[in-house]
Amino acid sequence: KEKLLKIQDLSVEYDTEISTVYAVNGLDMELGYGETLGLVGETGAGKTSTALSIIQLLPEGIGFVTSGSIQLDGVDMLNTPEETIRKMRGSTVSMIFQDPMSALNPVMTVGAQIMEVLKIHHPEQSRAQLEARVDEMMELVGIPAKRKTEYPHQFSGGMKQRIVIAVALACEPKLILADEPTTALDVTIQAQMLGLINDLQKRLNTAMILITHDLGVVAQTCEKVMVMYAGEAIEYGTAEDIFETDQRHPYTQGLFNAIPKLNEECDRLEAIEGMMADPTQKPKGCRFADRCKYATAECRAQQPMRQVGPTHYIRCRLFDPMQSAR
Ligand code: SF4
Repeated sequence: KEKLLKIQDLSVEYDTEISTVYAVNGLDMELGYGETLGLVGETGAGKTSTALSIIQLLPEGIGFVTSGSIQLDGVDMLNTPEETIRKMRGSTVSMIFQDPMSALNPVMTVGAQIMEVLKIHHPEQSRAQLEARVDEMMELVGIPAKRKTEYPHQFSGGMKQRIVIAVALACEPKLILADEPTTALDVTIQAQMLGLINDLQKRLNTAMILITHDLGVVAQTCEKVMVMYAGEAIEYGTAEDIFETDQRHPYTQGLFNAIPKLNEECDRLEAIEGMMADPTQKPKGCRFADRCKYATAECRAQQPMRQVGPTHYIRCRLFDPMQSAR
């Protein structure tokens, strides 16, 4: 079956006055219609740059895709006019940004903001039809439709996040890119929000890439998982491959060890020591080598992804590749 998203050998660089930052290096990824993928890693791992490349919103004049291809719903995103891409934002792909306030216009009512997206993508519909759809979107995210005449500041943080989701879902995109949509919220609201996104995603058969540093969130919501480290995918598989296995990349293992367990003293929390690889250096060999307790000279050579199970890939020399490689 045709895939919704196919990324091959994607590399992204940021050119600043001081240096070049290699944000993403040789990334491959596939996502089917309706599938959910958790993109996990620390700040600076390249998760957001990957998402911004997909929706073609890398900071202009600074961020560049330097190699690779991105096919989204049959469209070659890197070789398509901006006007077509603009139409795809909202109708094919939507992004939920980290900070709800930056995504909402403070001087427009929330109803008008949902309406604005709908109007762009459904110019043929009457005002009454669009109004009805605004009401429906408000109710869908659990806010009474009569509040559509209010402004963003009249809502709590959790409510604002719901409105951002309503705006993102208004045109029923085929893919949602959700960049840590819950970090600013307290734990209870966080759980509700994730439940809501998951529920909507299932009802509308929307695919989702959830960007997070939180493995617990991924376990609850995602079918596939990609772990990124310093611009590279270092592990990729189904949620079972990652969560129910004894084969894990040492970095992924470190992420698991860093999760505080209930009933355990906090001082048992084992942070991953060391700094992430310098992003201004072009990668050579394993980027995790400076922090890895298993590192040897061999690790400094190029490390390809190795297939260790039917759907499980790890970029580390410790694992024997499966005989029947892909
Ligand atoms: Fe550690 Fe070497 Fe594996 Fe990298 S390739 S994670 S340094 S053992």
